Order: sequence, then structure tokens, then C-alpha cells
Amino acid sequence: MNKGMLVVFSAPSGCGKDTVFKELCKRHDNIVESISATTRAARKGEVNGVDYFFISEEDFHRMIENNGLLEYAQYNGCYYGTPVKGVNDAIKNGKICFLIIEVQGAQKVMQMYPECVSIFLLPPSEEILRKRLYGRHTDSDEMIEKRLEIAKTELNYKDKYTYNVVNDDLDVCVDEIDKILCNELKEHNA
Ligand code: 5GP
Repeated sequence: MNKGMLVVFSAPSGCGKDTVFKELCKRHDNIVESISATTRAARKGEVNGVDYFFISEEDFHRMIENNGLLEYAQYNGCYYGTPVKGVNDAIKNGKICFLIIEVQGAQKVMQMYPECVSIFLLPPSEEILRKRLYGRHTDSDEMIEKRLEIAKTELNYKDKYTYNVVNDDLDVCVDEIDKILCNELKEHNA
């Protein structure tokens, strides 16, 4: 069995990280995503226990107190955190465990697990990011502008990651990340 591998994957919202991740899963049957806990309300179509564990602030704080979270951060007024158990189980079972998390939490994980693979996904340009966010029709204009502002701050963290990949053409982007994973897996299991 391969050794488990932790991958920290960050991107400003609208960069297509979920689509990229789905494509990567088609190519690697041993990739799993850590399901985060959040205090944000579920969006239309999101399922509790699949997309996130949607919990109250009270329960979130209880998880922190019980050391149930590997990391957590606030984003856009809500809490998001990675449950420890899911990650430990995935690593123990030799999986490639993806943490699809924002930059502050990502920094904490990189400090705790210097051997983790860190990938930052970039939009081709700010203008394209704006267009993608408005095209999604899932958030209000005010929320989108706020997300764009957060995106600008997040882009300042890109150099903290081992790999920066631009998501312009989806296939090219997925190929590039696939190559990164294959190389890292080889080194990891050498
Ligand atoms: P969204 O509300 O769009 O689902 O997520 C907002 C941001 O929170 C995204 O950048 C997402 O990657 C990040 N995020 C999701 N789960 C976690 C988590 O467990 N920890 C941290 N630090 N960020 C998370």
C-alpha cells in the first residue's frame, strides 16, 4: 500500500478548484477530500455531510475545545475547519487526502506538516475571475464584490505554496496538477 499523502489546495473562489478537483479524482482512484465543518449556511444543492458538515457556532467552538479540528479559520464572517479524524483515517489508509482550504488555514497545515504538498490555483486574470463569479449566480452582487476583495488578499499568499498553477484551460491545468501529484507520489513512496 502507498503511504498516505496530504495535499493542501487553495484558490480564491471562482478559480474553479472544485471542477479541477473532480477531474483529478477521475484520474486517481485513491484521492479523497477532507469534509470540512462550517458555520456558513448551506447553499442550494449542498448536502450536509457531503459538501460540508453544516454546524452551529456553538458546536464549532466545541470542536475546537475538544481538539477535533486540525486547523480552522474565519472567512467572510463564517468559521471553516478541518476535522482531524477524517484526515487521520485517510492518511492511515494510504489515500491522497486533499484539504481544499483558504490561505490562513493552509499556512497552519504547512507548518504542522512540512512534508505536505501545497498547490495554489490562480485565475488567468482578475477580470476573468470577476466574470466567473458573476456567471455562477449563486451569490449576491455584494457578496461577489466581497469575495473579489478577499481574492486579492489571498493572491498575496501564492508564494507560500510549493506549486502555483494557472487555471486558464481546464485540461492543461488538470494535466499540470496530475504531473505534480505523480512526481510527489513517486518521491513520497521512494
Ligand atoms: P465556500 O464558502 O466558498 O464554500 O468556501 C470559502 C473558503 O473557505 C474557500 O476558500 C474554501 O476553500 C475555504 N474552506 C473550506 N473548508 C475549509 C476548512 O476546513 N478550513 C479552512 N481554513 N478553509 C476552508
